[in-house]
Amino acid sequence: MRNIILFGAPGAGKGTQSAIIREKFDFAYISTGEILREEIKNGTELGKQAEVLINKGELVSDEIIIGMIQSFIEANNNKDLLLDGFPRTVKQAESLDKILSSFNRGEAKVIELEVDKDVLMQRLLNRAKIEGRKDDNEQTIKERFNQYDKKTAAVADYYKQKNSYISIDGQHGTPAEISVKLITVIENL
Ligand code: UDP
Ligand code: MG
Repeated sequence: MRNIILFGAPGAGKGTQSAIIREKFDFAYISTGEILREEIKNGTELGKQAEVLINKGELVSDEIIIGMIQSFIEANNNKDLLLDGFPRTVKQAESLDKILSSFNRGEAKVIELEVDKDVLMQRLLNRAKIEGRKDDNEQTIKERFNQYDKKTAAVADYYKQKNSYISIDGQHGTPAEISVKLITVIENL
């Protein structure tokens, strides 16, 4: 069973590419960000806590996110997995390893979509006009980049050390062109 992590900074195209490749592969898919936005929409206790952090561009605690992933993997243990937006910290990556090994699922593989920061900012500001996400404003985006640099970028190094990391250019080309490269990588994993 495959365990694929689609990795990249905010705005790198993880959600867009996930949607495209899910038409081709039968993945059990989780976006922790989408789940948190659902919780906010439904006004749950978790949603209320998450909303404050998300609007500031900060991260929800490792414990909460790891709990979500644990339940997701438990429920989808017979399937290939596609993880979008997780892990976001090295602690989360280490926990994922333990969960995967407890289910005898083998290693996770990371595919990073690489995009320059100035292009990311433009994409997110543009998305704000279309989707109206409250965290897509300049100040919050800057803090999301800051959190990414401080806590999330190290996740790439963690998987590089394990030789479980591949990156592709997520900047030059249309989403369809980028998905072709991504699909080739997945088929050759
Ligand atoms: N978030 C988080 N942990 C997660 C996923 C999301 O804390 O595992 C929060 C965080 O505040 C982040 C926001 O939700 O900035 C939006 O996450 P999403 O993955 O949707 O955004 P992206 O970074 O892909 O643009
Ligand atoms: Mg996303």
